[in-house]
Formats: sequence, C-alpha cells, structure tokens
Amino acid sequence: MYIILFGAPGVGKGTQAKIISSKYGFEHISTGDMLRESVKKGTPLGLKARDIMSKGQLVPDDIMIGIIREKLAEPQLKNGFILDGFPRTVSQAEALEKVLADLHYDNGVIIVIQVDEEELVKRLTNRRACKVCNSIFNNNEIAELTECPNCGAKYSFFQRPDDEEKVIRKRLKIFRETTLPVVDYYNNSTKIYGIDGLHPINEVSEQITKIINKTKENKKTVDA
Ligand code: AMP
Repeated sequence: MYIILFGAPGVGKGTQAKIISSKYGFEHISTGDMLRESVKKGTPLGLKARDIMSKGQLVPDDIMIGIIREKLAEPQLKNGFILDGFPRTVSQAEALEKVLADLHYDNGVIIVIQVDEEELVKRLTNRRACKVCNSIFNNNEIAELTECPNCGAKYSFFQRPDDEEKVIRKRLKIFRETTLPVVDYYNNSTKIYGIDGLHPINEVSEQITKIINKTKENKKTVDA
C-alpha cells in the first residue's frame, strides 16, 4: 500500500513518515531529502534545484514528476511506501495518479496534517537540521549538544536556508496558493483523511496508525 502524507512545511510530515516507516517497513520517499542530496553531491539536478529551494520556490513539475516516476518503479516499493512532499501541485497529483495506475498500485490513502500557520512559522524558525543525516530537531533539543543524537556527527547542526523566516512566509504562501488545491483534487477521487497536527507527536502517529490499519483491512476484505 502507499500513503501520501500531505501538509504545509513544518506540520511534521517527515517526523511522522519516519515513525510509520520503522513501524511498517514502508519506504519513506521525501522529495525534499532527495533534492537536498542532489544539491550536496552537486549533480546537474542539484545545481538546478539549489537556488530554487533556497528561495522557497517549487522545483518545476516536469523535473519532479520525472524523479517520482523513476523512484516509484523500484521493485522494493511493492512492500509499501510513504510519499512526503509530493505531490505539491495539481499537475503533480494528476501525473502521480497515472504512474500509480501504470504500476498497479490501487491501495492508497491520503492523510492531510493540519496546523495553524503562525504555529508553523514558530516551528520552522526553531528548526535545525543535521547536515550529515538530514535529521530535523528543535533548536531547544540540541542547544547543549555537540553531536547529532541520530548519527553522531560532530557540530553538524545548521539552519536550512529555506527555514529563515522570510523564506518560510514565502513557502507558506506557495503552499496556500499552489499546493492546497491538491486537496480538492483528491476530495473528488480518493480516500482522504484530515488530522490535527497540533497534538503531541505520539498522538498524531496513533491516529495515522489507525488510518493505515483500516486501509490495510479494507484491502484484505476486497481481496477475499
Ligand atoms: P521539503 O523538505 O519537502 O519542505 O522540500 C524542500 C524544498 O524542496 C521545497 O521548498 C521545494 O523547493 C523543493 N521540493 C520538494 N518537493 C517538491 C515537489 N514535490 N515539487 C516542487 N518542489 C519540491
């Protein structure tokens, strides 16, 4: 099965995707992480994406759709996968539907995590990342640390250029205007659930777990 985790930057998609991934063995596909990896390696894609990302803009649809089409064809994804950060436009959602149908993925669910915008600005400006393993932390959690609690890298914390307040406001505006219409697209077509992302991380993940288990059961009933 597949899960599309949908929500504005900072709602906790990455955190929840990691929890689901370790619980169910589903692969976590974060298009933001894939792009950051390309930027780090200096690949042609990374060179194109770097400026776009640091300004908080979206990487063009044709590039993103190409990346996802290639990724979703990998055979191990048959065990399940979570999309985090894709689709971000209606064109991406339309292309994704086609790719999923071509690959015969029919058991999926869209989970929309909602959090108030001012809370997101607060969360994102306090966010720090490890430049080695890409883990995300709250600044208060790591203020006294010299090593990343996840990978052990020393002095690896930094603020992503797209987590500066001016850029965050821009990203949220793009989310409202360009990405939010994706919800309307799914309202007409597929299974979609909304959850409140203001609750503690474990409560949000419990809700997600219930939705996933229900989706898995439905599939069994359909197959029987
Ligand atoms: P994220 O880590 O998901 O917030 O993504 C970081 C940045 O990568 C975004 O602000 C965009 O510049 C770019 N990006 C990630 N996913 C997509 C996508 N599906 N479409 C366009 N740009 C994307």
